Parts: sequence; C-alpha cells; structure tokens
Amino acid sequence: MPIYEYVCKSCGYKFETMATLAQAHEAQECPKCGKKHGERVLSVSSLGSRGSFGYGGGSCGPSGFG
Ligand SMILES: [Zn+2]
Repeated sequence: MPIYEYVCKSCGYKFETMATLAQAHEAQECPKCGKKHGERVLSVSSLGSRGSFGYGGGSCGPSGFG
C-alpha cells in the first residue's frame, strides 16, 4: 500500500499513513487529536529535490542533451 501524507485541519499535526486509493480520498483520523480531520497533501519530496527538470541527462533524464 502506498503511503499518503496528511495534515490535520483541526490541530495542524502532520502525519503519514498507509491507505488504499479509495481510503486516500477520505479524511483520515488524526493520531494526535483523534479527530477525522486529516486532509491529504501532496508530498513535496518528489518535486523539489531535482531542481531543473529536463536538464542533465544523467541516470533518469531524457537523452538528447550532452
Ligand atoms: Zn489533529
């Protein structure tokens, strides 16, 4: 099962939980305050780490540069 990231809209607590795709669309129960106010957020770890996208041509870049 994939891991999704949530932020509690009630207390602001950030947590991760494993859920199915169907469960991921629903609000998750906050482990801190116990309220079902966990709103799903997109993980930024996969977006902001690479820097310039499409340039470099290293291990997983598109061939054509270099
Ligand atoms: Zn909470």
